[in-house]
Amino acid sequence: MAILLKLRLVLGLLLALGYSTIVMAETSKSILIINSWSEQLPWQQSIERGFLQAMDAEPNTIVYTEHLDAERFPTEDYQDVFAAYLTQKYKSIELESVVAESLPAVEFLMKNQSLFTNIHRFYFPDSDKVTATLSSDESLIPIFEDYLGSFNEMLRIYNPDNIYIVADSLSYSGRNQLQRFKEALPTSLLNDSITFLVDKPMTELVEEVSRLPENSAIFYLLTFRDGAGKDFIPYKAAKIISEAANAPVFSVWESLMGSGVVGGYLLSGERVGNLAGNAALYFGHQPLPTTKDAFEYYYDVIQIERFGINKKDFPDTTILINDFPSFYESYKLQINLTLLALTLFIVLSIILSVVNRKRRYLVNALQTEQDLLEKRVFERTQELNQLRIKAEKDARTDVLTQLNNRRAFFELGSLIHSQSARYKRSYAILVMDVDLFKQVNDTYGHDAGDVALKRLAHVMQASLRSSDITARIGGEEFAAIITDLSNNNVLHKAEHLRASLEKEEITWKAHSFFITMSIGVAYYSPNDKGISDVLKRADQALYNAKGHGRNQVIDTSN
Ligand code: GH3
Ligand code: MG
Ligand code: MG
Repeated sequence: MAILLKLRLVLGLLLALGYSTIVMAETSKSILIINSWSEQLPWQQSIERGFLQAMDAEPNTIVYTEHLDAERFPTEDYQDVFAAYLTQKYKSIELESVVAESLPAVEFLMKNQSLFTNIHRFYFPDSDKVTATLSSDESLIPIFEDYLGSFNEMLRIYNPDNIYIVADSLSYSGRNQLQRFKEALPTSLLNDSITFLVDKPMTELVEEVSRLPENSAIFYLLTFRDGAGKDFIPYKAAKIISEAANAPVFSVWESLMGSGVVGGYLLSGERVGNLAGNAALYFGHQPLPTTKDAFEYYYDVIQIERFGINKKDFPDTTILINDFPSFYESYKLQINLTLLALTLFIVLSIILSVVNRKRRYLVNALQTEQDLLEKRVFERTQELNQLRIKAEKDARTDVLTQLNNRRAFFELGSLIHSQSARYKRSYAILVMDVDLFKQVNDTYGHDAGDVALKRLAHVMQASLRSSDITARIGGEEFAAIITDLSNNNVLHKAEHLRASLEKEEITWKAHSFFITMSIGVAYYSPNDKGISDVLKRADQALYNAKGHGRNQVIDTSN
């Protein structure tokens, strides 16, 4: 039971909370902010930017903005006019709260209690000196410069030997800043190393800051008016000074960032505005801010580099301006993708070239192998051809004399015979037989006989034409076919051959001897059927020659 009850309670609470948020979101609020300065001042602009940023979170909120413009209109009668103006303007507008920003607006609103009755008043003076007895409708949140904090940050980060305080005591705001700065600094710090450049005409000031001694720093308090009585917007004065200066310019206000100041521990106008906005929006729901909430470390990267200030001394929370990303940072993705693609391309190219090289190597090796094989095949074919030719030749050649053998003689002979028959040409056959060769063998030996047969073959070839056919057709029996020669001439040739052999001295070892031969000649006649017919007649003639005493030529016509 107890648990159930608790659960109900929690549920109920949750529902109530949800409902109240919905109600809060739906209610439109009207808030008026009274600013102290002209809209033209960057400081003022920073505050308003921050204030509106806070309002963005609550889109139903209606914001009214007024500017007291206390720097340009400081007199009391003007303030009365301003009060009357506000009364008239907002008489029919239901405001929920009014915010006064910076000391002049705070003092103005505190003085004019009859303005905006029954609504909550937020006072944001830029001073810790405001004291007042507050009603429950009033909140006082002093947010002011921390001159000492900013000054110490300059000493910490730059440690200058000479410090130049640039300030203006001629304007209302300038005078205030200078006075508060002096009050904030302990007397121990106000020594010889600090020089005040107050109320200098701008031209003179520019000249002076351009040739400050080495390791100097400028601490810039706002300049609204220079020594020559010329009015300035402090941001623009800061710009002129920092451009001319040969030393870094430190300051107190974030709104000066971008004007050439280096930075430091700065009061942020934007934060002040933001804190004021949040305080007005969530009063009662959130604690009120303190002045510390409005400070931050700011540095300008361009100026840091200009004066060689080391970034590593900056607190982690430091806000850097002009910190443009490097080309690499801006195009990190593109560069990395390009690099990746390039790497892949190179790797692929390498792989491809390696593979290609291997392939080429293999192709070359294959080609070489193929060439070698082809060469071998070619050589082998040649060899075989030669062997074949040799075999063919061998089959037709007599081993001892290298003349045609009997088989070749008949093949060639029948060819000549058929050609002679067809073209009606003539040929003659000589059949030769060595005389009493048996005796040669018997007398000198078989080897000497072989030498004699070789000599005979030699004599035959020397005596006959190369177109004539010469052959060894038996042991010591030879034959020749002589073409295109008259019978007479054939006979002459046969006789010449016989005589040549007769004169040919044959030597073998210590021996020297002569041989002779008998020759039978027969001439082709159209009646002959084949070479054998002619050969038969030549054999007959040879037989006759032998019978007639050997060593002579006899033809069939005899
Ligand atoms: P002819 O013909 O004059 O009547 O007398 P011949 O002595 O020459 O006749 P024959 O036919 O009786 O003898 C032939 C001899 O030739 C017998 C053989 O020893 C010899 N002869 C045959 N062929 C060869 C050979 O190749 N080399 C040698 N050295 N002798 C051979
Ligand atoms: Mg014989
Ligand atoms: Mg013989």
